[in-house]
Amino acid sequence: MNRFTWQRAVIKVGSALIAPEGNECSGRFLLALARFITASREAGKEVILVSSGSVAAGRSKVKIRHNASIAEKQAMAAIGQTLMMANWQRFFDFPCAQVLLTADDLRDRTRYVNIKNTLREILNHQALPVVNENDTVAVNELKVGDNDNLGAYTALVAQADTLIICSDIDGLYTADPRKDPTATLIPTVEKIDATIYGLAGGAGTSVGTGGMRTKIEAAEKCTNSGIQTLIVNGRKGETFDSLLEGSVPGTLFKANSTPSSARRLWLTHTLKTAGTIEIDSGAKEALVKKGASLLPSGITHIHGQFEQGDAIDVVCNGSTIAKGLSLYNAKDLLLIKGKKSKDIASVLGYETADVAIHRDDMVLF
Ligand code: GLU
Repeated sequence: MNRFTWQRAVIKVGSALIAPEGNECSGRFLLALARFITASREAGKEVILVSSGSVAAGRSKVKIRHNASIAEKQAMAAIGQTLMMANWQRFFDFPCAQVLLTADDLRDRTRYVNIKNTLREILNHQALPVVNENDTVAVNELKVGDNDNLGAYTALVAQADTLIICSDIDGLYTADPRKDPTATLIPTVEKIDATIYGLAGGAGTSVGTGGMRTKIEAAEKCTNSGIQTLIVNGRKGETFDSLLEGSVPGTLFKANSTPSSARRLWLTHTLKTAGTIEIDSGAKEALVKKGASLLPSGITHIHGQFEQGDAIDVVCNGSTIAKGLSLYNAKDLLLIKGKKSKDIASVLGYETADVAIHRDDMVLF
């Protein structure tokens, strides 16, 4: 078995695990996973769940005989979402935090920043984020569409280092093991190419939306951004024993780079800066020596018309020392520059964060 290490993981749980009969949530396959989550948190690691199951759970409460219309499915999702959350909560002593997202939320720069900050805060407060698609509002072009890809987007926005996809199959096989007895498990995928997609075939179960293909798509998105991806069999208790001791009892899709170097590359080379802020030497010292976030109190001047989430240059005494994503737009930063973080809310009437640039969103030169 491959070995792996991780610090912050997104764990995706499909309908085949949470609603194995296709209607109603069940705890049958979740106990071992819940133990794994608790043990990992106790070991100082961070976990974000992406869970399906709202439509399946809602289906058990909506008695219809015909094929459900879109509005009926959305009603099922609304009814089932609370059942799904309750199903998770009963496994944990710490709070589960419901996060419902659509593709549109992830495309919108301001909402993207807010999602990122909120996930960070939920983790800071020792709660377990449980993410699902906001099926009640999202149709077609607004949707991610399947929770494998939603898991990948969540891993990206949460800056996770690992995506673990819990399926009802052991991993990626050389052929469909349900049809071909000679099929063997592929333990490692170094690079995702057309051959790998060729192995994926169609959807695996009738309960969820995704199949192997969407899992490979998710793995491709993640590995390209430095996030290793695992496909494991969540129905087997021993899967989680192996994961706990750092072994991969399934397929490991290796990351193409480390998350920090992928992010660094993206920040340094891909993002054009939309403005500049000047900081004093005390703030520079905190950034460079302590790896701190940039507080508004250290900002002396602001140049350019940037928006929240834009990349900006950070300058001290005429030289550019960092580049980062601003948590406030230029207009508001002008109002809070030089001020204490505790005064942000009273000056602006709102507070996105108590820092101007978070250290996770900054590269130092
Ligand atoms: N969001 C859907 C649900 O909770 C699941 C989508 C999927 O199975 O990929 O029912």
